[in-house]
Amino acid sequence: MAFTHRKDTRPVKVGNVVIGGRDEVVIQSMTTTKTHDIEATVEEIHRLEEAGCQVVRVACPDERAANAIPEIKKRINIPLVVDIHFNYKLALKAIEGGADKIRINPGNIGKRERVEAVVNAAKEKGIPIRIGVNAGSLERHILEKYGYPTADGMVESALHHIKILEDLDFHDIIVSLKASDVRLAIEAYEKAAEVIPYPLHLGITESGTLFAGSIKSAAGMGAILSKGIGSTMRISLSADPVQEVKVARELLKTFGLASNAATLISCPTCGRIEIDLIKIANEVEEYISTIKAPIKVAVLGCAVNGPGEAREADIGIAGARGEGLLFRHGEIIRKVPEEIMVEELKKEVDQIAKEYLEK
Ligand code: SF4
Repeated sequence: MAFTHRKDTRPVKVGNVVIGGRDEVVIQSMTTTKTHDIEATVEEIHRLEEAGCQVVRVACPDERAANAIPEIKKRINIPLVVDIHFNYKLALKAIEGGADKIRINPGNIGKRERVEAVVNAAKEKGIPIRIGVNAGSLERHILEKYGYPTADGMVESALHHIKILEDLDFHDIIVSLKASDVRLAIEAYEKAAEVIPYPLHLGITESGTLFAGSIKSAAGMGAILSKGIGSTMRISLSADPVQEVKVARELLKTFGLASNAATLISCPTCGRIEIDLIKIANEVEEYISTIKAPIKVAVLGCAVNGPGEAREADIGIAGARGEGLLFRHGEIIRKVPEEIMVEELKKEVDQIAKEYLEK
């Protein structure tokens, strides 16, 4: 079945990155450092950039964090989103300081003049606002109506915040509807995609550690992506945020939605194995993790079913007795001694990626 991703959302610019209006899903992550610690925050953002993060978010819980925004912004290369809880003064400061987007729920800001001040400042700078609905913190009137967090309640909450912005003629909006219950999140995003014309930011909250959280996020976001929904995403893990980016890229590759990442094909191993495949697969996976071209690299335990099994690979290696067979698109190109086969594979990978990026 051909996979079609939803493109009919409003395109919204976050710095130099467009979210929505096309079938690419932009990868986001969030820093874990104290935002006022500029050195640590910038260092973490650089690691995220290197891993393939396209938009980064920092928390802004206080004045010190807001004061750090201009310097952080100056020293990073990807768009910066500032996460505000409800304090409109911090929102104004973040916007003034160069934020490329802010995350704030207009319904939580308070008095009308305050909402207007934030919206006008965002309008003036041409930056969007992300509305973040969370099943765990729905407005009281919605909880009273539905009794407990439901998908309809979450969409109603989003529409409530959207209306506040639209009434002020503000339309550069991105919406998330996060829940830690995977089925609730799937239903909420499906319902939202029917009625909300703005790009949707996908997320499953409190998903857990690297292992459990990756599986839970892949199950939830995979189901949502498979319906063609989502213009940007963050995988939330109790782990180094670089892992969030790696998991997001892997998930998007599965759906053919990442145009800037290489894929590893590795055999499941069996009794015919001729090389230390698990070690080699991990080493090659690590090596290709920073390649920004959508090439496919295979590592196979033997040559019996090897090259033929990985015909779609741009380059691959199959173990043979004491040596490795390098192959391209299923055709063997040369034999190399086992000790240097991984190095030879890496050289070929670099060359193919270079050719692809120069195309
Ligand atoms: Fe087994 Fe060879 Fe297939 Fe790997 S490539 S699973 S070692 S037959």
